[in-house]
Amino acid sequence: MRKKREVPKEELPSRYAVFFIKPEFEHLRDTIVWRIKQAGLKIAANKTTVLTEKIHEQHYVHLREKPFYNAMVDYFVDKPVEVFLLEGDDAVTKLRNLLGETDPLTAKSQSPGSLRAEYGIDKMKNVGHGSDGKEAAATEMLRFFTMAELTKKQLRFSLQHAQLDMLPSERKRVVAPQLFGMFEPHKLSPIQLRFALKYTPMKKVPQKARNYVRSVPFWQLPWRAKWRVAWWRLSGKNAS
Ligand code: GDP
Ligand code: MG
Repeated sequence: MRKKREVPKEELPSRYAVFFIKPEFEHLRDTIVWRIKQAGLKIAANKTTVLTEKIHEQHYVHLREKPFYNAMVDYFVDKPVEVFLLEGDDAVTKLRNLLGETDPLTAKSQSPGSLRAEYGIDKMKNVGHGSDGKEAAATEMLRFFTMAELTKKQLRFSLQHAQLDMLPSERKRVVAPQLFGMFEPHKLSPIQLRFALKYTPMKKVPQKARNYVRSVPFWQLPWRAKWRVAWWRLSGKNAS
């Protein structure tokens, strides 16, 4: 039998996408919401939040070295934006098609009728932000929404696919224990396990996870956990 090509996780369609309306485009809210629904997407959650400097820097870290970065800070930082969690089959593709290309001029020729083609002003003031992939969607879900604002299913998805080191440190400490709470310890990837051990207070690491961690190669453990785990191993008991 021919072997099926393994599709990397990132190429698989994403059930979720995060969208926010950029500053100065709030007046288009009703139109945008209508267009989102027309595109076959459901609004699973929405809220207004302020783009703090920290959040902005993490969100646009890939553009940190660009000459226009300071203009972006002026435009975005400390501005309230309405963020939407969108849900539907292949949500990222649907959202990106709805938005059109980053540059509204390109969008006008390449995707007429898209939001950026119709309402975009320039490359920066281009109506809204949309996740560009599954990993981005998952990371942005954890960046913009609290645990309480996500359903269990959404939380599972985001924990599974997020780039966990791309979260603000206070979010990391909230997110990390959830990994132990939602997944069997042996199902965690080495990266997830390291992250969970690094940011979960040791006292809060469940017994099941402690037992498992004793069998994990030492090099896979974060520094903070190494000594504690060494102690668990030496003592051989389920010591805390
Ligand atoms: P997007 O995913 O289509 O929004 O595009 P990117 O991820 O490449 O860039 C993120 C955001 O940075 C854009 O939506 C713009 O707001 C801003 N940006 C990107 N390129 C430029 C540029 O050349 N000039 C300016 N002023 N802003 C830009
Ligand atoms: Mg982008």
